[in-house]
Amino acid sequence: MEPPVNLLTFTQDELVEFFARSGEPAYRARQVFAGLYQRRLQSFAAMTALPKALRAHLDSIATASSLSIESRYVSEDGTRRFLMKTHDNRPVETVFIPEERRDTICFSSQSGCPLQCTFCLTAQLGLLRSLTAGEIVEQIIIALNDAYGVGVKPPRGINLVGMGAGEPFLNFDELMKALGIMADPGGLFIVPNRVTISTAGVVPRIRELATMPARPHLAISLAAATDELRDELMPINKKWPLEDLLSACKEFEKSLKPGERVTFEYVMLNGVNDSDQQARQLANLLNRHGLRAKVNLIPHNPADPLPYVPSPSERVEMFKAILESKGIHSYVRRPRGRDIFAACGQLAARRENNLAGVALN
Ligand code: SF4
Repeated sequence: MEPPVNLLTFTQDELVEFFARSGEPAYRARQVFAGLYQRRLQSFAAMTALPKALRAHLDSIATASSLSIESRYVSEDGTRRFLMKTHDNRPVETVFIPEERRDTICFSSQSGCPLQCTFCLTAQLGLLRSLTAGEIVEQIIIALNDAYGVGVKPPRGINLVGMGAGEPFLNFDELMKALGIMADPGGLFIVPNRVTISTAGVVPRIRELATMPARPHLAISLAAATDELRDELMPINKKWPLEDLLSACKEFEKSLKPGERVTFEYVMLNGVNDSDQQARQLANLLNRHGLRAKVNLIPHNPADPLPYVPSPSERVEMFKAILESKGIHSYVRRPRGRDIFAACGQLAARRENNLAGVALN
């Protein structure tokens, strides 16, 4: 049986067209759009401004929600991790991170991931499937409602990061559609300037993003400064090696505003990519391309069966100091939610193993 139409996959204009096909006026579609995104209602029954007959009709053909929360963990530091599932039982991980200035939601663009980064648990699931625009947007609705209450505006606005499961640029069209829906002033009104998308290095999409007028910020997951090591840690490097990646970044740089920098994420793996020499290689690589770069040093979240341990904090500080001495702005990301399965993919991997009947600790 076909699943009901998920209204969250429609832009406001598409919703108007959808309603027109059933003979409903545009203002009804706009009421529903506001119900879905301004009031963040997840059922038609809750949209009491609509006539009862219309609510019943919508219920019979469509849905205002296609994800359900399977489990939810709250960390000592306030971080909330959600394992959601799609209508066809695929895992989706989302994280709400309270911050001093502005809270952040980290969303997934795919269930599982086709890339094989060796420091990532999601990689072990393989690609289950790409998420629809509606499933991307709904993660934000669920996390906002959970954190602030249904329909309550985030008091200081919200930042979004596309750094959860999946490679966002391998689901480019749905991702961009989701960002468009979220930016609508009649809805969530989260503009692309509040969104950062992290890619493992899908070069053609980096070039394409650079040409888009209203685009999100970009972060590149690097993890190594030589092709030899990056081939091993992030096999996507065999397809788009560092020279290709950095020349795409150089082109992307032209689209930056004054003062903005190209952001690189560098996960710190003890004894693998964190030596003084590797810090110098990284600085030289970025400087050789003349990039206005910023490096975020990311603490690795260890999890069985990943073969890595996080670099000790003194090592991370030394690495940072070397980068800075060579003129590269660098920051150390604070680990969050370490007590609640912090590694990306950990909840989904536990779930898949449970489904397969494997005992977990
Ligand atoms: S790090 Fe990101 S791109 Fe790499 S396997 Fe994990 S989810 Fe996919």
